[in-house]
Amino acid sequence: MRFFRPLWFSRLLYPDALFRVKTKEKVLYLTFDDGPVAEITFPLLRILSDNMVKAVFFCNGEAAVANPQIMSAIKTSGHVIGNHGFSHPDGVLKNTKEYLEDINKASEVTSKKIFRPPFGRMKRSQYLMLKAIYKIIMWDIMPYDFDPEFGAVRSLAVVKKLMRPGSIIVLHDNNKSNMLELIEEFIIYSKKEGYRFDIIPELLSHKSPEPST
Ligand SMILES: [Zn+2]
Repeated sequence: MRFFRPLWFSRLLYPDALFRVKTKEKVLYLTFDDGPVAEITFPLLRILSDNMVKAVFFCNGEAAVANPQIMSAIKTSGHVIGNHGFSHPDGVLKNTKEYLEDINKASEVTSKKIFRPPFGRMKRSQYLMLKAIYKIIMWDIMPYDFDPEFGAVRSLAVVKKLMRPGSIIVLHDNNKSNMLELIEEFIIYSKKEGYRFDIIPELLSHKSPEPST
């Protein structure tokens, strides 16, 4: 069973998390989880730059430590970095102390202000503690680009069908993802449909200034 929208009870469990930006404008918000990975993230940055699209990268702390040069490329390209945990912990399987330690460790190399829980889930107690520190960002559309069996063609069809004003879209810049096969086509299609792409308004203050040259 695949769930392209968040499960109905997520909004009840995490009422202060952001799932979709409230707007009537045709604007979409791209987010990329689980990177950075050189062979994926660098080509992605190129595509985003060619199409003048800014995004939020929810980086894995371990990968951030291993790839400082990609982290600075993300920042200097004017994107925003969020915290996605150090070792991609599943909150439901971890006690709150261990979970918070993992997120805290990742905050040193990712973000101290913006968080997306790995697997989109955490215990209510973890949520309550984290929401006091972080803006928690969930999603409106998850097209299963991380699932090789699903395939890029179907992922693209899902995101084209479900996109709506204010959609936050979660994709992945990790090794398993089909994202690079669909991202440019999706951006071009959306722009033809009258959409633009932006950074989630509440996170704009975390965007790095773009180089002046
Ligand atoms: Zn993840």
